[in-house]
Order: sequence, then C-alpha cells, then structure tokens
Amino acid sequence: MKIMLVDDSTTMRRIQKTQINSLGITDIVEAGDGEEALKVLQQNMPVDLIFLDWNMPVMDGFTFLKKVRADNAYSSVKIIMCTSESEKSRVVEALKAGANNYLVKPFTPEALKEKLGI
Ligand SMILES: [Mg+2]
Repeated sequence: MKIMLVDDSTTMRRIQKTQINSLGITDIVEAGDGEEALKVLQQNMPVDLIFLDWNMPVMDGFTFLKKVRADNAYSSVKIIMCTSESEKSRVVEALKAGANNYLVKPFTPEALKEKLGI
C-alpha cells in the first residue's frame, strides 16, 4: 500500500508518518501543498490513499481534491480529509466533492487503523 501525506506542516507529516510506519506501512510519499501534491501524485502512481490537509498555501486541500476527482487517471485513489476540530462542519462539503472519509487531527492510532481498514 502506497500512501501520500499532504500537509503544509512538516511536524504534522512527521507525526502521521511515524504512526503509519508503526502499522507496518513504509511506502509513503509527501507533499507540502496541493500544487506539489499534484506533481508527486502523478510521479508516484499507483498511490492507494491520500491523507489531505485542508488549509495549505499555494493550493488548498479542497481545490486539490476537486482537481484529483476531475481526473479519471486517479479514480482508484482514496482520499481522507484531515481536519481540525473546528473544521468538522466542512467535512460534508469535502465528502460531496469526492473525499472518501475524514479524520480529525491529531489522529489517534486507533482512528488511523480504522480508516485504513486494518
Ligand atoms: Mg495546514
């Protein structure tokens, strides 16, 4: 399973990576904004799952989500929106735009396992 972490916080990406590694998944690529993520995704297909931050500079997560969902080449890629507690109300919008699920940051290992289905 290949996972892409998209978050402008390197600290958040490091935490997520450590948690995912602890589940035995080591094939992980990263991007710091939506525009970079489009390039990284294209270069690293097949990517199975993206953990996507909402607020990022250059291109935010919601714009990235809509671009990915408009491209049939990425129809197999699952996208999990990562929101803060205060952004939870926006989750419906993301699910309507094609996100598969969401996680509230910071993740617990249990929540992560559940969303990964392992
Ligand atoms: Mg952010």
